[in-house]
Amino acid sequence: MHTTQSTSALDRRTFLAILSAAGTAALTAPALAKSTLFAPDPTLILEWQALKPGFHAVVDQNTGGNTLVFTTKDQALLIDTKFAHLAGALRADALAMATKDATLTLINTHHHGDHTGGNGMVVPFAADSYAHENAIDRIKSQLPRVKQGAKGGPARLKGTNAPDALLKLATQAAEESESWTEASVTPTHALKDKATLTLADTKIDLYHFDPAHTDNDLVVHFPDHNLIHTGDLVFNKLHPFFDPNGGGSALGWKNALKSILKLCDDNTTIIPGHGDIDTTKAVKAQLNYITKLIAHVQADIKAGVPKSETTQKTWDFMQGLGFEGIRERAIAFTYDELAG
Ligand SMILES: [Zn+2]
Repeated sequence: MHTTQSTSALDRRTFLAILSAAGTAALTAPALAKSTLFAPDPTLILEWQALKPGFHAVVDQNTGGNTLVFTTKDQALLIDTKFAHLAGALRADALAMATKDATLTLINTHHHGDHTGGNGMVVPFAADSYAHENAIDRIKSQLPRVKQGAKGGPARLKGTNAPDALLKLATQAAEESESWTEASVTPTHALKDKATLTLADTKIDLYHFDPAHTDNDLVVHFPDHNLIHTGDLVFNKLHPFFDPNGGGSALGWKNALKSILKLCDDNTTIIPGHGDIDTTKAVKAQLNYITKLIAHVQADIKAGVPKSETTQKTWDFMQGLGFEGIRERAIAFTYDELAG
């Protein structure tokens, strides 16, 4: 009999992963049974989607934020580290795509644990690592949960088709996590509003716009390659996650998306924080969602509709999206911000 994972079960697992990443629950990643995460290519451990020459991404809704890697012969840049049991493989694969002795660089798009949970397997090996200045203390404070998550990593791979190399790296992360300190997981460079890196003659612009998904979102733009990792400013075909403790803002999110659109043309490759790789239309769709969410909630507040009633609503722009489990949070967060 043919069976497929039901959307609701998938949503439930992803929902838990995102909640845990935001500190609402223990830092755990969902099970990986029947995952397509593992590479058919024996030289790599994880399945990477080739985007453009030098650019590959791991796009998998069950294992935290999308990781992008940019490699040349001498350089390997990782953007986000998912969880500890996967991050050794992210690092190994990035170096396999460059060369074993390539210089490793890390950028975290924001502090959430599904984007930084694997930092302990990357930061100590990176020549340079970057995050927004507001992310630094938040990442440090996550250390106990990250260690706990790393210890549970190997168990999460049991019963999956995970290759031996991944199991070995997950076990290594679990063991080494005992001795991780704040320095092991925290990027060494704290950025403000704008920075430019140059790796192997490739320009990389890092932008922090208004408080949006969090107070420390970084957008990573490769202007010569017309490619942007938006971090969690874009949830593609998914409800966006609003974190009441992350310092974000629905109004700021709208502005940040407008700022991203100024960097784009119609053909820009968009790597969203969650969901499939896309073009500029994914940014436009996210802007449409946030704009309409603000308008509808504002209208309800003006009409005296109580929060408990507004959060039960759904509107046309919300139809057909994944992560249904976080729809209500989006409305509640926006209501609190606008009514505040
Ligand atoms: Zn996030």
